[in-house]
Amino acid sequence: MRFASLGSGSRGNALLVEAGNTRILIDAGFGPREMSRRLARLGLSGDDVDAVLVTHEHSDHVGGVFACARRFDWAVLLTNGTLAACRDDGADVRTTIIDSHESLSVGDIRVDPFPVPHDAREPVQFVLADGARRLGVLTDAGHVTPHIVAMLDACDALVLECNHDARMLAQGRYPQALKNRIGGLWGHLDNAAAASLLSQLKGSSLRHVVAAHLSEENNEPALAREALSSVLGCEQDWIGVATQGEGFGWCDL
Ligand SMILES: [Zn+2]
Ligand SMILES: [Zn+2]
Repeated sequence: MRFASLGSGSRGNALLVEAGNTRILIDAGFGPREMSRRLARLGLSGDDVDAVLVTHEHSDHVGGVFACARRFDWAVLLTNGTLAACRDDGADVRTTIIDSHESLSVGDIRVDPFPVPHDAREPVQFVLADGARRLGVLTDAGHVTPHIVAMLDACDALVLECNHDARMLAQGRYPQALKNRIGGLWGHLDNAAAASLLSQLKGSSLRHVVAAHLSEENNEPALAREALSSVLGCEQDWIGVATQGEGFGWCDL
């Protein structure tokens, strides 16, 4: 199994996972043209992707889902609440409703969804496995729950939200209401919360840890690296960072 990001942050997200003969995206925050451009950096086209798993209805995650699904004939998998909250009803798209507590298989990839606290209708995040390795993904979570810890335990790789640095957010130029939303219980994880989560996981088998969904306004890659590496006792450079423009290249498991 291997994974790569096509871009991560409040202006668009898409994480590509490949195992056996299956390629799936988690989220598609880019329209067909931009998606094609980003896939081409990995030598792929939209037709090489089988399906997209949608975490929730915010536009940085769902903005390109239905247009890409129509253009490239992708299957779309999402919770009932997420579909209900989307502007597009996906009527002419191959849509599968998933249960946020029930495992499913997409080709050669096993998918374990789990619910997260975020200000969306029925948001989920995912653990993906190929039988040998497990990739845990968590972005867009306002706080860490015991269920999140249990789901992300004993993964071989983690993509973890490090949305903001609490001090940068507090001292930054966002209006107070937006600061309250981002830093609140149904907003986004800051660097310290992501580090605290990491400290609660059995991480001995971790081959990759990537910080994701960084705010371009309220965070710095170095601060996210510092927070996560201090928990693992690793070199700061060992922590990957998914950027808005580039994402990150293939990580093998
Ligand atoms: Zn988001
Ligand atoms: Zn969101």
